[in-house]
Amino acid sequence: MYRCELCSVVIQPNSPALRVILETRPKVYAERQRANKVRIRGKRKPLHANDPGGRGWEIVRAAKVCRTCHDKWVQEHGTPGAESMALHVYDEPMMDEMQSEG
Ligand SMILES: [Zn+2]
Repeated sequence: MYRCELCSVVIQPNSPALRVILETRPKVYAERQRANKVRIRGKRKPLHANDPGGRGWEIVRAAKVCRTCHDKWVQEHGTPGAESMALHVYDEPMMDEMQSEG
């Protein structure tokens, strides 16, 4: 049981929560040396592989919503959130700022 965060309607108990992603931001993941342990068959010690880092998205704000609000959101945005993130355009100067956050 929960309350819809958009229209405050109370959702019946025993119903799984529906979520929509309200806001996302681009994120740069730094390269990390020796970050991943890789087990090689026959070798006792795991090797350490580098993580190449990369770019992705972070969820800034998500909401638990009722079926009505969820369907309305999907109708307006095409998806509850995740897939629409790929449609965002990267802003290069902003990416550089974010990199310093580590
Ligand atoms: Zn609602």
